[in-house]
Amino acid sequence: MNTLLWFRNDLRLHDNEALHITLENADSLLPVYIFDPRQFENTPFGFPKTGPFRLKFLIDSLLDLRANLRAKGSDLIILQGKPEELIPELCKKYEIGLVSYHEEATHEETQIEDALDEALEAINVEVDSAWGATLFHVDDLPMEIDQLPDVFTAFRKKAEKYSEIRELFETPESLPGLPKGMEESGNVPGEDFFGIEPDRPSKRSVLPFDGGETAALKRLETYFWQQDLLKKYKDTRNGMLGADYSSKFSAWLANGTISPRFIYHEVKRYESERKKNNSTYWLVFELIWRDYFRFIALKYGRKLFYTTGIKGKRYEWSHDTDAFRKWANAETGIPMIDANMRELNETGFMSNRGRQNVASFLAKCLNIDWRMGAEYFESMLIDYDVCSNWGNWAYNSGVGNDPRDRYFNIVGQGKRYDGNGAYIRHWLPELKQVPDEYIHEPHRMNVGQQRNVGLEIGNDYPFPMINLEQAYREIEKRGD
Ligand SMILES: Cc1cc2nc3c(=O)[nH]c(=O)nc-3n(C[C@H](O)[C@H](O)[C@H](O)COP(=O)(O)OP(=O)(O)OC[C@H]3O[C@@H](n4cnc5c(N)ncnc54)[C@H](O)[C@@H]3O)c2cc1C
Repeated sequence: MNTLLWFRNDLRLHDNEALHITLENADSLLPVYIFDPRQFENTPFGFPKTGPFRLKFLIDSLLDLRANLRAKGSDLIILQGKPEELIPELCKKYEIGLVSYHEEATHEETQIEDALDEALEAINVEVDSAWGATLFHVDDLPMEIDQLPDVFTAFRKKAEKYSEIRELFETPESLPGLPKGMEESGNVPGEDFFGIEPDRPSKRSVLPFDGGETAALKRLETYFWQQDLLKKYKDTRNGMLGADYSSKFSAWLANGTISPRFIYHEVKRYESERKKNNSTYWLVFELIWRDYFRFIALKYGRKLFYTTGIKGKRYEWSHDTDAFRKWANAETGIPMIDANMRELNETGFMSNRGRQNVASFLAKCLNIDWRMGAEYFESMLIDYDVCSNWGNWAYNSGVGNDPRDRYFNIVGQGKRYDGNGAYIRHWLPELKQVPDEYIHEPHRMNVGQQRNVGLEIGNDYPFPMINLEQAYREIEKRGD
């Protein structure tokens, strides 16, 4: 039989169930990736859905996938258009009998799956889809999706107690060729694709973030095995500066160039060969958070994207575009916010600590519609994952799964996690001369002190937002 594998956010050959499905009894295999123009439209608040860093990372991932497929006797066909239209056409042309792909969890993506399934059914092509983006398989959860607890800990405890993480699918040694007549494999887009110019993170980035399965596996090899960093992950994970404080797996996880289950089984191997401790457990714990947001997306569907969030909470949100722009452009005048936003804008990455703070500041201090922030992140993040992004934004904005509705005191957080201001100075060299005691609150320096370090707050740096004083007062009113 001729089979077709539709690659989506599963751009890998290891632990790929959809690939295995297509290989059973395959005389030929047609691996396809489709650039869907809908992914390159603007979000409702006007940001490009796919920004330059993620586009570059994706292109690199596809080039790597294509090279890996070719090395095994296959290829990757790259097309542009709507998958629900193109795939049925390919099936007719190349007499495909079976199509497989990995299922997604969110509304736009599952709508496309439904349309595709229907179109394939109409031409008698079998569809056998797989679930492969989480540690726990959706079918193995100890509860129905509509019974999923709304508090993470309740979910995690049940999943850890009653579910097992499945074994890996092996990487095939070789692959069948393309169907007869399929010769043109299509072009990987170059510059200015759908109006977006692919771009690399700046040199100041925590990592160069090379896309692709090969780079993903190399990152794991480095972080776990060569540098032996996993054993102290729990102590370092709240850092903000450098490659080593956390795994940086997120971008590869997001487009599926690494499988979360593969990471899990490598953690188990590390625990038996090197060390088992709180840190080794904690990396799995964080991956369970990732699972959780995907299952929450399944449970709540489109509500995940509503202003009122999954909780249905009505708040008075501001749409002050001037204040929003200052937040987005790293021009708030608050070093902890501006340093993190500058990192995001230059590299597409930001630490988890940074993300929590800038999100909390936007939604809870400026009271700006949290969806504007979520959409901006969608555009900018190299590791954008629809479920993790929208789930975390809702969580930090008081409309999601946080039972305590936490608030971050930005200054307190800066002092705790960047005590000597090394992170601030890395991203805001304008503040290099500011003494440590003022690095998180330069506006507290008197005029003479400001002049001594070449600053005139309120004039040139740091482009203070109109309500800087008020913003600081807001911060101070709250806990940490
Ligand atoms: C407002 C906001 C938006 C976010 N948007 C995204 C996003 O679009 N894509 C994304 O992958 N993560 C997102 N996160 C979660 C988290 O910040 C990143 O996964 C993490 O910083 C990536 O760095 P790392 O791979 O070194 O993480 P590590 O600390 O090494 O963690 C290992 C892995 O666990 C998962 N993980 C860790 N923390 C979380 C979390 N809070 N939620 C879900 N999964 C987690 C990630 O897959 C991560 O790669 C967001 C967090 C916030 C607060």
